[in-house]
Amino acid sequence: MSERIFNLLIATRNPGKILELTQMLEGSRVRLLGLGDFAAMDEVEETGRTYRANAVLKARAYARHSGILAIADDSGLEVQALGGRPGVLSARYGGEEMPFSDRIDKLLKEISTAAEAGRRARFACCIAVATPAGEVVAYGRGICSGQIAVTPRGDHGFGYDPIFIPDGYADTFGQLHSSVKSTISHRARALAQIIPSLRVFIENQLDLR
Ligand code: IMP
Repeated sequence: MSERIFNLLIATRNPGKILELTQMLEGSRVRLLGLGDFAAMDEVEETGRTYRANAVLKARAYARHSGILAIADDSGLEVQALGGRPGVLSARYGGEEMPFSDRIDKLLKEISTAAEAGRRARFACCIAVATPAGEVVAYGRGICSGQIAVTPRGDHGFGYDPIFIPDGYADTFGQLHSSVKSTISHRARALAQIIPSLRVFIENQLDLR
């Protein structure tokens, strides 16, 4: 009997996220497709005020466009001394065009005089899976707490990874091996939440064929 599989679009243009989600979904009965496998589509604007709203917005828009099930996330870094900023605006902190190294420098400068407690931070992530008809069939949320480093360290990962030291470690996500991040990250935790409902949805769809 041939192995039955289900197509799933990873709906993000962020290469770091694509790599992480691909690694985490490896071995499941889904064939992962990227935005490059479909006709060009404009960027979906993240107009929501919450991670959840943006994840749902993106999953629905890309599922409708591609005609297949789509998984999308929205995530951000929340820093204690900044009252939880940059949060949902993390990707645009300091302006859309700012190179990421400058964005990191700006953040470090803003918290340079903060007490140790002010350097507490957390990554937050919401992941949504939607059908082309707009139904949200799985939804998960994950948090990874830690500390902002004094200077950037390491070149693994993406975004704020070089300045984020997850609790329980001395190194930043930029220094830690990707296998560590893919176990403890906010994205890994959000994904772990959706796997059971995603699996049930896919099994049901395959049984109906
Ligand atoms: P969005 O989810 O595409 O809106 O972007 C989230 C932004 O948050 C990214 O561009 C990064 O700046 C930051 N971010 C989210 N997750 C991570 C992560 O795992 N490592 C480093 N930065 C992250």
